[in-house]
Amino acid sequence: MAFLPNPKSRALLFDVTRCVGCHECAKACKASHSFPGTGEETELDATTYTVVLDKGDDRYLRRMCMHCADPSCVSACPVGAFTKTELGPVVYDAGKCMGCRYCMIACPFNVPRYEWSKPIPVVRKCDGCIERQREGKPTACTEACPAEATVGGTREEMLAEAKKRIAENPGTYHPVVYGENEVGGTNVFVLSPVRSSSSDEGRPRQRPDAEPHLGGPVEDPQGRRRRRRGPLRDLLDHPPARGRGGRRARREGVTSMRLPSF
Ligand code: SF4
Ligand code: SF4
Ligand code: SF4
Repeated sequence: MAFLPNPKSRALLFDVTRCVGCHECAKACKASHSFPGTGEETELDATTYTVVLDKGDDRYLRRMCMHCADPSCVSACPVGAFTKTELGPVVYDAGKCMGCRYCMIACPFNVPRYEWSKPIPVVRKCDGCIERQREGKPTACTEACPAEATVGGTREEMLAEAKKRIAENPGTYHPVVYGENEVGGTNVFVLSPVRSSSSDEGRPRQRPDAEPHLGGPVEDPQGRRRRRRGPLRDLLDHPPARGRGGRRARREGVTSMRLPSF
């Protein structure tokens, strides 16, 4: 049984066109969780729950847990360590985790990270600032953003705000609210300034990637330029995610998910 997005649950809207790349969101996230680091990391890890990626041309993209309405991490976990809360955030109980890391394989956005360096490691990911939100406070990243690039509210409010921004500036935005329908809907929305192949026709088609991109040549980790990989290669290297989200993806012919890009 699929779970539908709850319009009253808490959600975030990230607007690429407003982000100035100041990393205040990532710094606030670290501060609120007492994590080490600068807040300017470029990869998610066990003490980095969100990153701000410089995509060039003064455009920046945040990565974090999307807090899916019907999360693959929840359905993949055999011991119920992950929970989709009524409030909206998808949370993790380290006390239940047995370290199988199925959640890491299942997540279509490649979000959960493992504490590889610890003798008794657990999985880590953005907790949606659940304690703050339970107290009626905004998430730390929302509160810190000086540009209203990250804003928070109920899912229906954030969806309405995203559509309002698109309607008021149709030449600025790609007319799709990423997260409205992808993987059954998420509690984090992304507004992109140009057409995103991953949200074309309302469904993503690309593989999960910490370095999202649109078409054309892309940089590999060594900095060499290469052509984007074809769908068959993607399917072979990144089979569809497990769990309810994965089944939905397979039904819709989606090999795996990724964030929108520009
Ligand atoms: S983005 Fe990944 S870790 Fe976050 S709720 Fe969705 S499936 Fe789970
Ligand atoms: S919602 Fe909270 S935990 Fe998640 S990225 Fe924002 S500040 Fe960090
Ligand atoms: S705080 Fe706001 S403007 Fe600064 S990097 Fe984060 S989302 Fe962008």
